[in-house]
Amino acid sequence: AHEGILRRQSLRESAARTYARSLPIVPVRARGLTIEGADGRRYLDCLSGAGTLALGHNHPVVLEAIHTVLDSGAPLHTLDLATPVKDAFVTELFATLPRELAETARIQFCGPAGTDAVEAAFKLVRTATGRDGLMAFSGAYHGMTAEALAASGGARHTSVTRLPYPYDYRCPFATGGERGAELSARWAQNLLDDDKSGVTRPAGMILEPVQGEGGVIPAPDGWLRRMREITAERGIPLIVDEVQTGVGRTGTFWAIEHSGIVPDVLVLSKAIGGSLPLAVIVYRGDLDAWQPGAHAGTFRGNQLAMAAGRATLAHVREHQLDRRAQELGARMLARLGGLAARHDCIGDVRGRGLMLGVELVDRDAGPDAGGARPADPRLAAAVQRACLDRGLIVELGGRHSAVVRLLPPLTITDEQADAILDRLADAIAAAVR
Ligand code: PMP
Repeated sequence: AHEGILRRQSLRESAARTYARSLPIVPVRARGLTIEGADGRRYLDCLSGAGTLALGHNHPVVLEAIHTVLDSGAPLHTLDLATPVKDAFVTELFATLPRELAETARIQFCGPAGTDAVEAAFKLVRTATGRDGLMAFSGAYHGMTAEALAASGGARHTSVTRLPYPYDYRCPFATGGERGAELSARWAQNLLDDDKSGVTRPAGMILEPVQGEGGVIPAPDGWLRRMREITAERGIPLIVDEVQTGVGRTGTFWAIEHSGIVPDVLVLSKAIGGSLPLAVIVYRGDLDAWQPGAHAGTFRGNQLAMAAGRATLAHVREHQLDRRAQELGARMLARLGGLAARHDCIGDVRGRGLMLGVELVDRDAGPDAGGARPADPRLAAAVQRACLDRGLIVELGGRHSAVVRLLPPLTITDEQADAILDRLADAIAAAVR
């Protein structure tokens, strides 16, 4: 079955598909951190549905929530109508928000995908401000629909002004450290204050507190506060994309809590649906300039996703899994630091909570002015393959696909964390040999 399914997939599906090309797995069963393939092999899954599975695969509280809705006879398709399931989800979600946002917060259900919510955020700030332009950051990832793509790094598009993200290891100014963040902030300020730049009054700025697909790059808290100040002073709504960083992943319930910034619009998806498709924006009430019917969409009432999501949010909160992610992530990062000290091919290790990255570089090439060596995507692919051979699923990210990303569920045990790192260490040793 395994080989036949893979063969038919490669014949029928576009080569544009992502994970499947590098992970020839046919998953048939899963629980927690573990996935089992049709060939009977078992894997530790550190891709976690691209960061969706805060509680891992098929967590009992998520399954129970889904079964409860199914057994209740409630309608599964409810468009935008009010339902008890939706009411409970929104109540739980609002209880997790920073007080300043929660006080006036409005929510808009946007559809199944993160990119739907990003588009809705852009549309909202354009309606609220009556302006058009957007500001985004190099290396960003916001989705695959037109505007979300335009705001993502590498896109060729003109409606979005791209600013440098403070990527200290490969700082665009080759200075590194807080200075990169300082210069990035000044760049934003200069553009906005220069009346000949053409971007003096954008409709909004969008950023990720930790870039995920961009290569696991946490933004310094000071830089985030500067961006908040710069946008607030000029009346520019700040959109924070927590599609990947939300629900405890980075060590606080929302990543914005590290810096204390309060965005005007929060974009949420992935883990908020407890592994099922769900995306929303939550925003300051006075931005709600939308007229009735201004934002439509058929699939915004997924009752199973709301129930699974409510159960996930409640479980993370009640069991303080964000704090657990912080402690465990710090320990894992320290171990990765030890690994980097032993291997010249590891240029940088970084992350926040259980969102970790290992940047692989060409150990034979010289460093640039900032001390970084060229990214090594071939080595990264070899490490990913060696991980798979050892029963570990990892994803690659970053501008050159040379960053090994670890996004394990927040529920993993100490022993599982060690097993992940043992396998990764072994895979790196094998790949550089
Ligand atoms: N924003 C961020 C930060 C993401 O990581 C992603 C998905 N990786 C998206 C938006 C897009 O979400 P989706 O793939 O569900 O459209």
